[in-house]
Amino acid sequence: MAPVDSRLELLRSVTETDGVVGHEDAVRALMAERLAGVGAISYDRQGCIFCAKTGASASPRIMLAAHMDEIGFLVKLVTDEGLLRFTPVGGWFDQVLLAQRVRVATRKGSYVGVIGSKPPHLLQDEDRRKVIQQRTMFIDIGATSKAQAEEEFGVRPGDPIVPVSEFCALGDGATSPVHSGIKYFREEYEAHIRDKKCPAHHCKELLHLEITDKCRGCTACFRVCPVGAITGQPRARHAIDTSKCIKCESCIEKCHFGAIIKV
Ligand code: SF4
Ligand code: SF4
Repeated sequence: MAPVDSRLELLRSVTETDGVVGHEDAVRALMAERLAGVGAISYDRQGCIFCAKTGASASPRIMLAAHMDEIGFLVKLVTDEGLLRFTPVGGWFDQVLLAQRVRVATRKGSYVGVIGSKPPHLLQDEDRRKVIQQRTMFIDIGATSKAQAEEEFGVRPGDPIVPVSEFCALGDGATSPVHSGIKYFREEYEAHIRDKKCPAHHCKELLHLEITDKCRGCTACFRVCPVGAITGQPRARHAIDTSKCIKCESCIEKCHFGAIIKV
């Protein structure tokens, strides 16, 4: 296993590489560089990158999947004053946006900007107590006119914007984020191999459905099951024959009493 410092360096490099959804080229190039020599690299038409490493045994087969993109923003329009209105990509709380530094990637380069709004001293008392809405905010990249922003800085609607946020490790031990990530993967791996359980309930072959004592015997699951895997009498607790169940989960959706669980 690589030393902790080099793993932190890897985390730093991937987290600090800009990659708003639809603009992940730099992240993809970095992944290709870091995975070179590890296994066979391929891409799909959506731009995903895959690295397949074949071991000595046919099983287990393990997939480690990750997003390449990050949440950010896109330029919506440029105002006459050279300020950028923007639209969020991904889930942002409006209250964390003001005063954030961002980087706007245009056809002419990458420019740092700051998210701003109407200043507090120009707001009514009542408005000052409210969360400023993102749609009223703007990004100042230092342009003094629309023409300068568009011609000199090259800003166009749709240009990607990312927050400028330096990587840092938290806690006394600078290695904790790395360790907690590795611990999580090890626990997941052990649950699959040793306990034959998928903690996230994603692996259908390791998943079983059970009807608990919340069952009221309404028969809705019995009627919806496409393979006749559910047995029971009206007003009595039902049961699932796991040898017949194809794990379609239709019964879970149908049960209004939350009586069917995944184990
Ligand atoms: S739908 Fe729910 S409550 Fe109704 S019989 Fe099935 S498990 Fe029991
Ligand atoms: S998961 Fe599908 S196949 Fe299995 S018991 Fe429920 S409805 Fe039937």
